[in-house]
Order: sequence, then C-alpha cells, then structure tokens
Amino acid sequence: MPRIAVIEKDKCNPVGCGGYLCIRMCPVNRMGKECKVIGPDGKAEVHEEVSTDACSVCVKICPFGAIHMVNLPAELEFPLHKYGRDGFRLYSLPFPVFGKVIGLLGINGIGKSTAIKILAQIVRPNFGKQEEASIQEVIEYFKGTEAHLFFEKVKAAQIRIAYKPQAVDLLPKTASGKVGDLLRKIDSAGKFEKVINELQIGAILDNDIKTISGGELQRVALAATALKNANLHILDEPSTYLDIKQRIRMSQFVKSLSVSESSVVVVEHDLIIMDYMTDIIHVMYGEAGAYGIVSLPKATRNAVNAYLSGMLREENVRFRDHEIKFKPRLPSGMGRKEELAGWSEITKRLDNFILSAEKGSIARKEVVGVLGENGTGKTTFVKILAGVIPPDTGEIGKGIKISYKPQYLSTESTDSVASVLQKAVEKYEIQLIRPLGLKTLLLKSLGELSGGELQRVALAECLSKDADIFLIDEPSAFLDAEQRIITAKIIRDFMETFGKTAVVVDHDLLLIDQVSDRLMIFTGEPARKGVVSGPYSMEEGMNKFLKELNITLRRDPESNRPRINKPDSQMDRKQKSEGKLFYG
Ligand code: SF4
Repeated sequence: MPRIAVIEKDKCNPVGCGGYLCIRMCPVNRMGKECKVIGPDGKAEVHEEVSTDACSVCVKICPFGAIHMVNLPAELEFPLHKYGRDGFRLYSLPFPVFGKVIGLLGINGIGKSTAIKILAQIVRPNFGKQEEASIQEVIEYFKGTEAHLFFEKVKAAQIRIAYKPQAVDLLPKTASGKVGDLLRKIDSAGKFEKVINELQIGAILDNDIKTISGGELQRVALAATALKNANLHILDEPSTYLDIKQRIRMSQFVKSLSVSESSVVVVEHDLIIMDYMTDIIHVMYGEAGAYGIVSLPKATRNAVNAYLSGMLREENVRFRDHEIKFKPRLPSGMGRKEELAGWSEITKRLDNFILSAEKGSIARKEVVGVLGENGTGKTTFVKILAGVIPPDTGEIGKGIKISYKPQYLSTESTDSVASVLQKAVEKYEIQLIRPLGLKTLLLKSLGELSGGELQRVALAECLSKDADIFLIDEPSAFLDAEQRIITAKIIRDFMETFGKTAVVVDHDLLLIDQVSDRLMIFTGEPARKGVVSGPYSMEEGMNKFLKELNITLRRDPESNRPRINKPDSQMDRKQKSEGKLFYG
C-alpha cells in the first residue's frame, strides 16, 4: 500500500510549536538522516523517500495537526497534481457533460477548488513533479478516458471556460468602477439585460463595486461569469452571502446555463441547493489537507445519499466511519416547555428601514430558527434581543443573560484562540472543543484562521459564555456541508444538556430544519420594511415561509433529508393543494 507524508503548510507554525518541534524530535532525523527539514518557505518539509513508520510519532508531536502520514488505496501511486514537495495531492478530476449541471461535493480541504481550477485552466497539473505539465502532456496523460477529449477540446478552443472564484469579497480589490460599466465591458455573450434581470441586480448598476454588499457581489460575480461567451461555466460556492430566496433564484439561473451546448460545474456546501441545481454529482473523499480523490459521477440523489452514508458502493470505499442521519419529522412545537423570555410589540427605525415585531416569547431548552430574506431586519431584531441596540417602542423581558455570535466575524485580532476559548477549554471540552475540532487551533492567533475555523471558534466562544439565551447569527457561513450538520447537532445537544435556549439565524434550510424546535419568520421589503412573526411550530412556520418562496419540500425516504420538489411536479402540486408545503 503506498504511503504518503504530507505537511499542511497553512497549519505549520514553527514559532508556535517552540521552534520546529518535529525536526528536533523526528526519530529518523535522530538517526542521522534528513527526514524533516526546514523548507525554502521557512516551514517544516518532509522528505518522503527517507520517512519510515517511525514518522507517525511526528504526527502526534505536532501541536497544530499539520503532519499527515496516510496509507493510500493501492491503485493511487501517482498524483495528478501535488503542491510542493510534500503538500496536498489530488488524484482525479470531475468532468463536464454538456446539457448538465455537475456538482462536486466534499469536506473543506479535500481539493474541490484545486480540481475545478485544473478544469478552468487556472492550475496546470504537475503529475507530482516540480514542473507544470504542458497541455499536450495533459492530453496524453488522460488518453483513453473522457478527460482526453475534454482537454483536446480545450486546446482546440472548442471549450470556452468562464470561472467564478470562491472569494467574491476580494473582487473590489481587483476591479473598480460602476457595476454596470464593469459588466457591460465583459458582455461578449450579448445577454446583458437578461442576466441582469434574472439575477436582480438592475438597482445596483450605478453603484461602485467597492460599496456593494456580499450578496450583491456574489450576484455580480455570477453575472460576470454568465456574460462571457463560454460553454463551460465553473462556479465555486455560488450561494455564499445569498439568502434563501436568492439561492433558489441563483439555482434556477445556474440550471439555465446548462443547455445542450454548454455545461456547468459547481462546488457548493448548501446540500438542499446542491441537490436542487445539479443533475450529476462527484463525491470527493480522501483526507483533508493530505489527499483527495474524485468519485465516479452519480445521479444527484444517489450521490448525496452516498455522501451522507459515508460509503461509495461502486468504488467499494468507506470514507467516513459513521452515517449522517436526519430527524425523520418536524418537532410539533413548544409543548410543555417553560417560558423563558418574551417581548411586547416592538418597532425600530434605522434610517429608511422600519422593523416591527409581533408579541412573542421563547422557552427554556428550545432552539428557535429564524428564516427570512436579507435586509428584512433579522440581525437588527437579534441585536435588540441581545440589548446591543434599544427598540423605539416596546419592551424586551429583562434579567435574561444573552450571549451573541455576530454574523460578521473580525479576522484582525492578534489574540490567541486559546485565550478566547479559555472558558470553553475549561468547561466544555467534550461538548464544544472536541466536536468542533478546535484543539489544533488553540495555539494560533485569530488573524491566522480561515473563515471556517473562525466560525467554529466564534460559536464555541459564544456558547461558553454564562448566558440563558444564545443568539447565533449565520453559523453555517464558511462551513462545509458536513460541518453544518455537526454544528446543528452541537447546538441542539448543548441546549438540551444545559437547559439553555438558542435563537439561530441562517440561510441554510437544512441546518434550520435540523436545529430548530420552532420558527420565526421575517417578511417585508428588503432594506425598507421588516415584519417579524412567530415563533410558530415548525410545520406552521415552514408553510408560511415556503409559501413566500413558492416552493415545496419533502423528505428523502432513505436519508430523511429535505429536498425541494421540482416546480409543478406531481408532488409539488399535491403538497400545494393540501396546503402542506413541507412533508416532514
Ligand atoms: Fe512545528 Fe508542526 Fe510545523 Fe513541525 S509541522 S514545525 S511540529 S508546527
């Protein structure tokens, strides 16, 4: 069985470990060989050819979890692409099919972005060597496979590629000027009006790109990709910053890009949206930070269920030691739980925006999910509940201690994770530190963390505070599909175990379905008016919310996960006629 040694450069922190701990302690180094050395980038580097089984000691030694020694499946000797001498390796690729939307599903750090960057010709594979391969070498490498034809067509310019990057928040750093001017310049497909209408960005065409919100940036980036005269659109995480209504509209837009002569390849972590917009999915598995393998293509439903089960039957691979399970049905409501806090009718004006909330209350030991469009005041209401801002009229129950995790997390701080999570480490090792995978982050500073790492730290910090109600704004942001499901479970278990209450605002319907006992719904006109109602029972709340979206949901009989019904399908019409928009 081939074995690889990998050092995750992002995690390697030679100062934090007290000065190249692995190099000093490596048993092979101590025998006089050069197994772990200081690499040209100042981080540790492993010389795989001299590493032995004794190197597994170093895996345990590194306090940041940066070293991996991994046994590979026998057939995987030569990577398609390798970062540096001892970095992450990718062993295969997904491939576009004309007329279809192809999804790529997997955990963070498993190589999804690398795979689509190779398809998009942004990264040229190196077959594990130091130099990039030429396009001709790539064509030869894939001889006898579908990929061979794909790269031949790329070389002959018969496949024209448009790529939307993951980090749309970086766009204002590379582009300047009015949104409309920027998009008109790109419009080689001649479909400016259509794309602008479908993505609903007409109102911001005169705005400077540096002043628009994350959700607007995402839609502008999608428009820029669609306006290029391309027949392969590659989209990295198109739902980030979008609310649910925008996610549904974005999915329909993405589907419309895959006509008979063109295809879409998409990476996405919102499982309901991934399920809704794709025809075929490749599951990616391996070990995060070490290596990634792309599965054979599978019909979307089968692929998502296989991903959740942790088993790929065709490949005969088990890539997780447990199945991910979902609640089979919606909870019936508050039941006989004791009321914890309430509010009277509330109003709040902020510039041109007015928020009004019906009288409501929340109970001890419950989780209230919050759903609504962007700009309808969800964060404002949460801040009023948290006492961060006062209402203009109305009252919030007093004497209740609140802990608040904000939507936007600051990455500037030089504080160490250990200092921020001191209380969590002392009191909630089992409930928070371990399940959120925070141990290897403790010696880092907040400013060094990725978006997903920062999100997990912020959640643990919020939950470790002494509070009765935890207000958790967008816990799914920057997490992969699996982490979102784990997060929902951690929040639920924490409230159950410690008799606390949580209010969770999120745009990932699956997370809200899994975490909530009841629902609050925000309606109104984005940026002008927000109306808060509820908490309702899950069934009533989902009915009210899905009616606004004009979609219906059913549970998959195998995995119990919610799926969006095809518009005007038999199920969609049946559920609408019965007024039961979520079969749960
Ligand atoms: Fe230190 Fe770990 Fe980097 Fe080695 S791999 S230098 S132990 S942080």
